[in-house]
Amino acid sequence: MSDQPTSGPSSAKSLFGTENNPSHIMPAKLTLDSKIKFRCHPEVSCFTACCGNINITLTPFDILRLRKHLKMAAPEFIHQYTTPVFLEKTDMPGVRIKLTEENRCPFVTPTGCTVYASRPTTCRYYPVGMANFHERSDEDAEKATDQQFFFLIKEPHCKGHEESKEWTIREWRADQGVDVCDEMNKDWMALVMRRKSFGPQASLSEKAQRMFFMTSTDLDQFRRFVFESSFLDTYQIDPEELDRIREDDIALMHFSFRYLASSLFGTQDLPIKAEKIQAKAAEIKKKQSEIEGKADSTYDELKSIRDNMLAELNSKKQ
Ligand code: SF4
Ligand code: SF4
Repeated sequence: MSDQPTSGPSSAKSLFGTENNPSHIMPAKLTLDSKIKFRCHPEVSCFTACCGNINITLTPFDILRLRKHLKMAAPEFIHQYTTPVFLEKTDMPGVRIKLTEENRCPFVTPTGCTVYASRPTTCRYYPVGMANFHERSDEDAEKATDQQFFFLIKEPHCKGHEESKEWTIREWRADQGVDVCDEMNKDWMALVMRRKSFGPQASLSEKAQRMFFMTSTDLDQFRRFVFESSFLDTYQIDPEELDRIREDDIALMHFSFRYLASSLFGTQDLPIKAEKIQAKAAEIKKKQSEIEGKADSTYDELKSIRDNMLAELNSKKQ
């Protein structure tokens, strides 16, 4: 996928790197300096073959970029071009590109990708996948390390591997704009992976799911939420940052990830105003006193019932 206009991913590619068909993955761990031979261009016999029968999950950055390219508002774009999914087997709602009745990407034409400059992250990755390998030493948990490596996906129909053009993985990623996408997506992907690590037992409330979906898919609505609700009464936000997120969509997107981290996982990414914390503490204390008061009266009631029963028993004995 080097020369524009070009084609995209295939069913073998996935945003989170866990849906790849193992039989298409080359059994070699690659580094940024490893070399691959690959080129995708309109003259390859398979051109656009890989833009169908695919699962292209969209990140917030993908959605923002695509809808700007198409000059569409988020709700319109989401309705027309996407279908809802749960992300990475979690209960976090997201979207993927809605394929046509022919099972093709709606943006592909015989001459290539019509949104090439704004194509999603998944399309840019193919055919180089990335994985994080978590290595843990049982003797010393402190030595646990995360190792990033790359792998090549070779599907029989993809003729790009027969081309002579040689690149390092680093060059390939820079050419495809993958580094930029990774930087834009990393905090959002970390939220999803963090949620996944809790396992299927933990579940998000419907309210939290709605908030995650709105924030991930519609930054205009998130901006209204920040500036037109009681949001700013609750969170302590630097005035300069407020100015930035009022105008700049990318700054707002990164801010939204911090908001999600703090509201979903209780991180300190967005500090809550001291008076709000005090008001909440007072509310909790009031509730506690009410519960304690209720427990006291229940105890008194039970005690009086017991005393009456004992008195009745004693009078029967006499
Ligand atoms: S967005 Fe473009 S590159 Fe990606 S699958 Fe669709 S047509 Fe292909
Ligand atoms: S060479 Fe590979 S990436 Fe390019 S169009 Fe063919 S199948 Fe798709």
